[in-house]
Amino acid sequence: MSPVNFADHAPATGFAVHDGMIHVGGRPLDEIAGQTPCYVYDRASITATVQRLRDALPRGIAIHYAVKANPMPEVVAHCATLVDGLDIASAGELALVSQAGYDLSRVSFAGPGKRETELAAALEAGITVNLESERELDVLCRLGGDSQKRPRVAVRVNPPFQLRSSGMRMGGGAQQFGIDAEAVPALLQRIGSLEVDFEGFHIFTGSQNLSADAICEGQRETCRLAIDLAREAPAPVRLLNLGGGFGIPYFPSEQPLDLAPIAANLAALLPRVSAAMPDATVALELGRFLVGPAGIYVCRVIERKVSRGKVFLVTDGGMHHHLAASGNFGQVLRKNYPVTIANRADSTDLETASVVGPLCTPLDLLADSMRLPRAQPGDLVAVFQSGAYGRTASPLGFLSHPAPGEVLV
Ligand SMILES: *Cc1c(COP(=O)(O)O)cnc(C)c1O
Repeated sequence: MSPVNFADHAPATGFAVHDGMIHVGGRPLDEIAGQTPCYVYDRASITATVQRLRDALPRGIAIHYAVKANPMPEVVAHCATLVDGLDIASAGELALVSQAGYDLSRVSFAGPGKRETELAAALEAGITVNLESERELDVLCRLGGDSQKRPRVAVRVNPPFQLRSSGMRMGGGAQQFGIDAEAVPALLQRIGSLEVDFEGFHIFTGSQNLSADAICEGQRETCRLAIDLAREAPAPVRLLNLGGGFGIPYFPSEQPLDLAPIAANLAALLPRVSAAMPDATVALELGRFLVGPAGIYVCRVIERKVSRGKVFLVTDGGMHHHLAASGNFGQVLRKNYPVTIANRADSTDLETASVVGPLCTPLDLLADSMRLPRAQPGDLVAVFQSGAYGRTASPLGFLSHPAPGEVLV
């Protein structure tokens, strides 16, 4: 067995090739993906990633899973056995984690514009609400008064700084996320006067960051801000959620994130945080980093079409299943995900081909003029790094094709 390798992409080291076929969890991909298109997720990969994180990070750092990265119930259930908390972003995700029987005292709920029904569900479930506005606090207090339940709240802070090198910025400057840091002291004072339990702070500044330096700088600034705000806190801070933003390599020339400097930086920050907030658990909330590398999107070549000398592999899958791989989920310049022909993964007979889907739009592109094993109808296309923001972040209804299946192996 040899690992899957690409000329231009960071190696997808998690998956083996045997007799030309990619294997997941010791099983050939064509057997797992009996019905295409589908997403295949590797349980062992998720387990190994969490273990690698725990081995690298200083003891005492809690790891939370951000459910929105991949809400497949089996994936969430598996992650729940590995991590210290779940972060959700809707009442739908709350229903998901409740049905899984997960310990709701370790669930927190972020996201702007929480509706009254969602806040009521959060109150009923006893989860922590990361306040994104003063309105959310007002609604929770009213609902709490009506139901004789004490809301559990943390304050999501929009920091005055931005995280460098982030694929998606979600903090700093003007934002729909969180409460501007300068308005937080007054809010904390109000919280102290209300019938609510104060949990702590949530500061999330961005996603898909591959620069350890930028992440370290963000964590230093985040801790400094939290230490300042903790002086104004109405009760001991129990949870300091530093966000995450750990990225994974998708495109040519990107390299996996180096955890060692991040671990060293956190080890240096922890004593300062503990001195200021002795009761606080420090948590990282990660989605993509935990589940992204564990997923492969698989579709089948329907037709091999040559148009004026250019080869198109037309498949039964596409952007309606995997918007991110088509380049339309946060990319500025479209680049290819790591893609190969799953049943010819060790072939040296390569050609330049584009992988497209069945939609009537040129945006429906899974690989653009990529060096791939020469493929025939019936072959399987594998798109790696597809475990996060794949199916869940795709316009499944567009053109009314069937939705892709999902399997956790
Ligand atoms: C989306 C999101 C995450 C997860 O981000 P990843 O880049 O997938 O790790 C974590 N926290 C919050 C508040 C989010 O909105």
